[in-house]
Amino acid sequence: MHHYLLKPWDPPQENLYPVLDDLLADWQADYRPPFEGISLLGHRWSPASHSLKDFLARNHVPYRWIEIETAKTDTEVGQLLASLPEEDQQRLPLVIFPDGTRLPDPSLAAVAERIGLKTRANEAFYDLAIVGGGPAGLAAAVYGASEGLRTVMIEREAPGGQAGRSSRIENYLGFPVGLSGGDLARRAVMQAQRFGVEILSPQEAIGLRLEGPYRLIKLADGAEIICHALMLATGVQWRKLDVPGVERLTGAGIYYGAAMTEALSCQDEDVYVIGGANSAGQAAMNFSKYARRVVMLVRGPSLSATMSQYLIDQIKATPNIHLECNSVLAEAHGEERLEAISVHCSESNETNKVPATSLFIMIGAMPRTDWLAEVVERDELGFVLSGSDLLRAGKRPRGWQVDRDPGLLETSVPGIFVVGGVRCGSVKRVASGVGEGSVAISFVHQYLSKVV
Ligand SMILES: Cc1cc2nc3c(=O)[nH]c(=O)nc-3n(C[C@H](O)[C@H](O)[C@H](O)COP(=O)(O)OP(=O)(O)OC[C@H]3O[C@@H](n4cnc5c(N)ncnc54)[C@H](O)[C@@H]3O)c2cc1C
Repeated sequence: MHHYLLKPWDPPQENLYPVLDDLLADWQADYRPPFEGISLLGHRWSPASHSLKDFLARNHVPYRWIEIETAKTDTEVGQLLASLPEEDQQRLPLVIFPDGTRLPDPSLAAVAERIGLKTRANEAFYDLAIVGGGPAGLAAAVYGASEGLRTVMIEREAPGGQAGRSSRIENYLGFPVGLSGGDLARRAVMQAQRFGVEILSPQEAIGLRLEGPYRLIKLADGAEIICHALMLATGVQWRKLDVPGVERLTGAGIYYGAAMTEALSCQDEDVYVIGGANSAGQAAMNFSKYARRVVMLVRGPSLSATMSQYLIDQIKATPNIHLECNSVLAEAHGEERLEAISVHCSESNETNKVPATSLFIMIGAMPRTDWLAEVVERDELGFVLSGSDLLRAGKRPRGWQVDRDPGLLETSVPGIFVVGGVRCGSVKRVASGVGEGSVAISFVHQYLSKVV
């Protein structure tokens, strides 16, 4: 508006577009639109800050992260800090809402309530309850509700599950250039809500009991939900690494999973990734865009036995990813935060201590199904058994009370189904979870037609 453009500007490729491009670039370089979302103020190395960042990001709530350490160099942050009452400055992390209200050091439940996430059910009874909101649970929710079942889905952290943490899923049908797990989760949640699924999140199922044809799910806040058919879709959670220093520094430089919320903070630093499977490969590729160098510590002699070839090729072609095979973490060092790690090489039998600020652990996952122990049959690792796996020498499971064998994807209790990563023998992939979640709905219909 403030520039005098020559007219006629023919040919525009020479006399108009370049001038406009320059003007727009100048404007873009200086323009800072006022931020109107939630601000989160905290220390970079605080586990509580990390957990809030992760929670907001995974629930697709836009927020601005303000690192308190920058208050001395960034005048805006300094002014913001100075404007806060002393008691709020002491109780970090601090969440500041667009209307100016603040929650110092809040629980996730308090933030969830404030941003309008739903943790309590509208009804006491549902045709179908789904525990777990990963790809398998979301697919079951979409199919269940779209076929007329009153459906509730209970999710402990944020819909999307493990897949929601993936920076790029490249092998899911229909997305030739891949899509992020966050995007997949957002689309699936919209689809489920459009069909009327009630999503309770963050909310955890902590107990299960049976009363005749009813299945009663106990929730972490003490409430109970009753349903006819129950779908277990609780997936798996990261296996913990039992190495000195790791537990103490988790959240303060050490993270389980790819923790994409931390990627930007690793700008121009060295990042260590432990693991040799696809999830570790994807994380390394993602961090390589921000970090100076990504070092992958892999226990085995190569990646070929554990990682898809397309990812191995991408890693080889990325110059700032460095692969250290035959290497395991021996110890994590640091007082308040991660400062160094000791890495043992099984080939040379040497242990080296190197400086490190960020370490991401992805060493496989296990189900957490203890809350189901008294009700459904599981294998020795906690994966839930289903279908023909429940028949021993042709005999049906103990307590089985209907005159048929357990169906495909059905557990040792009629009307309780299991899908996705938590099912014993399942293929741990997004597409197979989605497939199982969708298919299981037809078995739910068959079951309901007999009991209702
Ligand atoms: C980083 C990463 C990258 C991956 N990349 C790919 C890929 O590129 N392609 C691919 O095909 N697969 C990929 N996978 C694997 C894929 O994500 C999983 O196989 C898939 O997510 C399994 O789906 P699920 O629904 O069974 O379980 P999950 O995705 O694990 O979801 C289970 C959900 O249940 C919730 N839950 C658990 N217990 C409870 C409870 N008691 N109460 C309430 N909620 C509970 C959890 O919070 C979680 O959200 C990747 C995995 C990871 C971790």
